[in-house]
Parts: sequence; structure tokens; C-alpha cells
Amino acid sequence: MTSGKAIIFTAPSGSGKTTIVKHLLANNPQLAFSISASTRDKRGRTEENGKDYYFLSKEEFKAKIDADEFIEWEEVYTGNYYGTLKTEVERLWAEGKTVLFDVEVKGAMNLKKYFGDQALAIFVKVPSLEELKKRLTGRGTESRESLSQRLYRAEFELTFENKFDVTLLNENLEESYAKAQDLVSEFLTS
Ligand code: 5GP
Repeated sequence: MTSGKAIIFTAPSGSGKTTIVKHLLANNPQLAFSISASTRDKRGRTEENGKDYYFLSKEEFKAKIDADEFIEWEEVYTGNYYGTLKTEVERLWAEGKTVLFDVEVKGAMNLKKYFGDQALAIFVKVPSLEELKKRLTGRGTESRESLSQRLYRAEFELTFENKFDVTLLNENLEESYAKAQDLVSEFLTS
């Protein structure tokens, strides 16, 4: 495999990591987003197959697990599978890009283990669980059941902060953009 660098963003759902990731992608042509495979439903108006995710049926996803096509995969919420395809990383490295991941905490730890010093792993943290609840509610994308699953999981995920290379406290988006950009620039030139 052609080899390259990787930057892993992780955080409990609703911490703002996807917003930060999108901002970095818009400003750093060197970076390319690793499109994960997922079995969850597409958010109709905002998401596209092959751009936000490769949306797969459970059967398709399980066939790829059996064929050893994933670097890592997780059942993130009951019945919903998410995973990083080996072919996706190969595709982006072949283009000479640094691969940018947006994954949950366990997957991020597995990616960091897999890539080692080739990867910078950034944990994005919200100031409090109360703030996280406000953000997830405000986003309006979650059902009551999904919201409570995400909050329950977030509390657990916050205990893994020290497993990553650096923590980015997301209090103010503009400041977080700047902090994230500094981390990325330093890593790209190292
Ligand atoms: P969402 O449903 O909000 O798009 O994503 C739910 C969670 O799954 C988020 O924390 C997201 O970062 C994570 N996720 C997305 N893709 C992957 C992946 O390939 N592997 C793992 N482990 N988690 C992922």
C-alpha cells in the first residue's frame, strides 16, 4: 500500500467535530475526508451517498466484514454499523492526500493503533454534558430514543480523552477552528 499520513478526529456525538472537520477540509487542499461505510438511514436533505457515507444495507456491510475489507468497524448505536474501508484509505493516499477521519472514540483508538506515528489523533471535548445535550437537541436530527442513546454513550466516551495525542476543547467555534488549524499545520510539516 502507498503510505501517507492520517489525522483522526474523535469526540462524543454532538461535540462539534464534524463542523471542525468540514472547516479544515475547506481550507486545506492537502486533506481528504475518509468516507466511512454505514448502515444507518441517510439524513434526507443534507447527506449524499458516496460523499458523507457509503450507505450500505446490513447484508452488504456484513459481507465486507467477512471479506476483511475494514480497518475497523463498530456497531455504534444498536443495529447501526459504521466502518473504515481499507480501499478508502488506499484511494486517498494514492492521490497523495493526508487522510482525515471523523469517527467515534473506540474506532479512533483502533485507527491510532493501526497507523501509529503516521497519525495524529485529536479528541474534541465539549465543556459539559449539559452543553452536549443542548447541541444535540438544537441540531434537531435525533429522535428521543437516539438522543438518549447518544448522551449515554457520550458520558462513557468522555473517559477516554487521555488515549489521544491531544485534546481540543470546543467552547467557541472560531477559536476551535484556529486551534485545529494550528495542530494540522504543525503535523503536516513535521
Ligand atoms: P452519525 O450517525 O452522527 O453520522 O455518526 C455517529 C458516530 O459514528 C459519530 O461519532 C461518527 O464520527 C462515527 N463514525 C462515522 N464513521 C465511522 C467509522 O468508520 N468508524 C467508526 N468507528 N465510527 C464512525
